[in-house]
Amino acid sequence: MEEYKSPVLGSDKEHIRLSGPTESDNIVNGYGLRAVIWTQGCFTHCPGCQNPETWDPEAGVLVSVEDVKKELAGLKGQTGLTFCGGEPFNQPEACLEIARYVKKELGWNVWSFSGFTYEKIKKRGGKQWEFLKELDALIDGPFILSQRDLTLKFRGSKNQRLLHLKDGEITKVE
Ligand code: SF4
Repeated sequence: MEEYKSPVLGSDKEHIRLSGPTESDNIVNGYGLRAVIWTQGCFTHCPGCQNPETWDPEAGVLVSVEDVKKELAGLKGQTGLTFCGGEPFNQPEACLEIARYVKKELGWNVWSFSGFTYEKIKKRGGKQWEFLKELDALIDGPFILSQRDLTLKFRGSKNQRLLHLKDGEITKVE
């Protein structure tokens, strides 16, 4: 099988490009007390995006997946990890490694945002689908300014869905 090549500079199984420091005690990007990883690189370019500085796939900082794991392991009291962006699914190999680690070693649940829809990721298969299969929840779809709704939980626009997942299958839609 052809090896996956991330469109984000330097990103592979052992390296992840981040747009900012890892957060902890976050309560706005999923249920519970959460660590948040901010990935760099997004090509969706939604008008009205709150984080356009995360678009450039060569900006931010490239860090080792091992260092991210160590940092996460040192956080106390977290119940989950959320991948935000940027587009986490542009770096699925690194995100997959981290997701598997926190589920198995730290016992956390794992959520991710994506500008791609669930259906698109499933159809594409490969590493993106493997990463999705590790998730407990996905908030999917681009931000659409004309559908903006500030009352939505964890989402910015009405087209986006909060999908609860088990082994890649949707168990509940919020
Ligand atoms: S997918 Fe997310 S990060 Fe990318 S442009 Fe849209 S809102 Fe911004």
